[in-house]
Amino acid sequence: MDAIVADNLTKTYPGKTALKNFNLSISPNTIHGFLGPNGAGKSTTMNILSGLIKQTEGKAYIMGKETLENSFFVRRNLGFLPEIPPLYGDMTVKDFLLFRARLYFTSKPKAKGQVDKALEKMNLKEVERRLIDHLSKGFKQRVGMASALIFDPPVLILDEPAVGLDPKSIVEIRKLISDLREGHTVMFSSHHLGEVEQLCDEITVIRDGRLVLSDSYGRVKKRFAQKKPFEILVKGEDQVLAKALDGYGDYRIVRQEDQKKTIVISPSQEEELAPRLCRRLVENGVDIFEMKRGETDLEEIFIDLMEKQ
Ligand code: ADP
Ligand code: MG
Repeated sequence: MDAIVADNLTKTYPGKTALKNFNLSISPNTIHGFLGPNGAGKSTTMNILSGLIKQTEGKAYIMGKETLENSFFVRRNLGFLPEIPPLYGDMTVKDFLLFRARLYFTSKPKAKGQVDKALEKMNLKEVERRLIDHLSKGFKQRVGMASALIFDPPVLILDEPAVGLDPKSIVEIRKLISDLREGHTVMFSSHHLGEVEQLCDEITVIRDGRLVLSDSYGRVKKRFAQKKPFEILVKGEDQVLAKALDGYGDYRIVRQEDQKKTIVISPSQEEELAPRLCRRLVENGVDIFEMKRGETDLEEIFIDLMEKQ
């Protein structure tokens, strides 16, 4: 049984269809990255899955239960961090978490125990007596995470948990998500591919409210890695370069200084290209001074994926 399912979800806001026949299945105990540019429909999807807003058409399931008919079950099994975490700024961190825990546990000692665990897990001990309004964005985000986790739900949906955070907090949030791997299903959204690297078992890409791809991260990465452009610093005549690089993919000369040129080539072939490319250049009398593999950014990947649709 899948932990999270979107079955043909459509959401129409007045004058705008934010989600169109969207399907998604997430296996239990996996970390799932939900990627898409701003406005793609990530928050809309997550708000529907967690029961915060209602879809126009289609169905959502959490642990096999349809969400609209089983809203109590969903609230008991799903922790949700919305895009803007609803925090009470005039409460201290500890009081707020205790208030949240008491919604789930009638026994006060049990609730207190859960709060202590959440404070520990989210590294919030040092600020537990501070007012939430007085915390930095990174700490507020951690309070939001602690609040979503307070009853240790098996399924977690986190809407852009790392957005707007400083690099150190991003690393910490990533570690926290990774620590949840054991015994939890986590779906988190991001508009930045780097954030999901090394963390996700599976990724789903959405654009303009439609599914672009949903696959294991390993397979997606392999596909993207082959598309990474080479950046090569060379010395050689334009015609010679054109001849040497013929058939290897599109290339551009991006910089030219003295006689040296920096060329960027996007490989058109799937297999490992570096050794053959080097040999070919050298055989044609081109000197190579530097060669590196560039990063593929998310925009390029999206464009690439969309062109294949
Ligand atoms: P994402 O989270 O991927 O940035 P959203 O799900 O927030 O995307 O938004 C998807 C699209 O729906 C956007 O074009 C956004 O402007 C629009 N949208 C979101 N919420 C509303 C709303 N309440 N009313 C009208 N349009 C909305
Ligand atoms: Mg959003």
